[in-house]
Amino acid sequence: MVSTPTPSQPPHGLDLVIDFVNTLDTEAGTDALSSPAGLAAWLTERRLLQASSGPSLSEADRAGAIRLREALRALMLENNGGEAVDDAHAELERAARRGDLCVHFTDDCSVELAADRQRPEGALAQMLVPVADAIADGSWQRVKACRAPDCQWAFYDRSRNRSGVWCDMAVCGNRTKVRAYRECKLPAG
Ligand SMILES: [Zn+2]
Repeated sequence: MVSTPTPSQPPHGLDLVIDFVNTLDTEAGTDALSSPAGLAAWLTERRLLQASSGPSLSEADRAGAIRLREALRALMLENNGGEAVDDAHAELERAARRGDLCVHFTDDCSVELAADRQRPEGALAQMLVPVADAIADGSWQRVKACRAPDCQWAFYDRSRNRSGVWCDMAVCGNRTKVRAYRECKLPAG
């Protein structure tokens, strides 16, 4: 299903994917996925995982979530002029398979991509639906991770010519400019 974007919202429900990558906040030094319980809470709050879906999540579930998160971040950095990371697309495909992300045909002749949301692997794979929609229509190119190495905050680039580089020009853009200026002004020797 294609959702109609409002000016404040990226299309396809990409805000969910952006939020997922931003569970790691390097500036605050926090990670919402630092434990299996944290991952379970995050997925349940966003209705990706049903609240009473069997046994609690394991460390292996958490490790899978982190691999997916960092693969998504690598692709968002690539969208922002970063180097291509070989394994990132393959990791997305593995995550899709782990969660049984499949095409479903219904009697009223509609088609949808959906994962098995009874399981944590499926809850994670469900986030690849907006990614697939966005890759298909090109809006994925606007999903970026901030170029500041100590930030890497995910954001949707709304600039007209898709030239946004920083999550927030006032913060990361200026900070990087000031740093570059200082490095230029350092006395030689
Ligand atoms: Zn930033």
